[in-house]
Parts: sequence; structure tokens; C-alpha cells
Amino acid sequence: MKPAAFKTQVSSGGVIFRKQGNNMEIALVAVKGGTVWCLPKGLIDKGEVPEKTAIREVAEETGLKGRIVEKLGDITYWYYVKEENARCKKTVHFFLMEYEGGDISNHDHEVDDASWFTVDEAMEKASYKGERDVIGKAREKLINEKDIKLA
Ligand code: ATP
Repeated sequence: MKPAAFKTQVSSGGVIFRKQGNNMEIALVAVKGGTVWCLPKGLIDKGEVPEKTAIREVAEETGLKGRIVEKLGDITYWYYVKEENARCKKTVHFFLMEYEGGDISNHDHEVDDASWFTVDEAMEKASYKGERDVIGKAREKLINEKDIKLA
């Protein structure tokens, strides 16, 4: 059956990081029964700026509070929405965020798990190529940590 409709969606999310000893760690969430690991993100509410969505969705999904350091970039992918027989073009904005507080054990129960990983571990774990590219960009920034204005 030919897809009858075309729709677009825009979400926003974050690469939230903290320093643990000599390692930089970032948080990922698991979905689809724990089989897919991804960056926390969610749909931008009407009239909401992407930065606010990223802070809200990271807090909701991971239980962690962070502040935006800078924009990392956007990714785009297509997926099929069965219930609507529609193809959806989705754009997701991602921001680098410095961890400020909260505990990952307070993650949303709509995600199957949430965990801190070293940046290298996260690169291996992240399921989608687009998100691995975003983590790669974050890694570049975090390697040059002195270039980041940490609070
Ligand atoms: P949101 O977290 O923005 O509210 P959602 O959970 O409703 O979104 P998505 O995470 O966009 O939906 O997932 C919709 C479909 O797209 C799923 O089949 C998922 O496997 C796929 N998908 C999610 N992220 C990516 C990606 N970065 N690249 C390719 N496909 C993806």
C-alpha cells in the first residue's frame, strides 16, 4: 500500500555530560525493550524554543538536570507511522549540556533504562548513526574542554 500522507516532526534533545575522575561521561536512554540506546529527546511543544525542550526532555527521560553549553547540530531521518499510513520526516536538534544535578535512577519509566557511559562506550552503545555523529561532535568539544565555558 502506498503511504497516503507525509508529515514532519521536530524534536530536541541533549548530550548531557559530567566529569568522573579522568573520564567524561554522557547519559543515554534505552527504548524498545532495552534493545535500542539513544540520546534523550522529545517533541518540541508549540511555541517552545528548542533549548527549553532539550532541558525538559533530558530531565524527564534521564532524571538529570543540565544547562545548555552550545548547539551541536541537527539530524534528520525518515520513518513510517503505521497508524497514519504516513511517512514522517523528522528533524532533531541536539545540544551539549553540562550536568548540574539529579540522579539517573529517577529516569522516566517510559524509557526502559538510563545510564552514564564514558564517551567511547556511548559511541559503541548508541544505536543510530546520526546520534553517533552527534556524540562524535560532543567528544571533539569535550576533548578541548578548556574551550568550553564550564559553569
Ligand atoms: P520523540 O523522542 O522525539 O518523542 P518518538 O519516541 O515518538 O520521538 P522516534 O524516537 O523518532 O519517536 O522514533 C520513531 C522511529 O524512528 C522509530 O522506528 C525509531 O527506531 C526510528 N529512529 C529514531 N531515531 C532515529 C535515528 N536517529 N535515525 C534513524 N531512525 C531513528
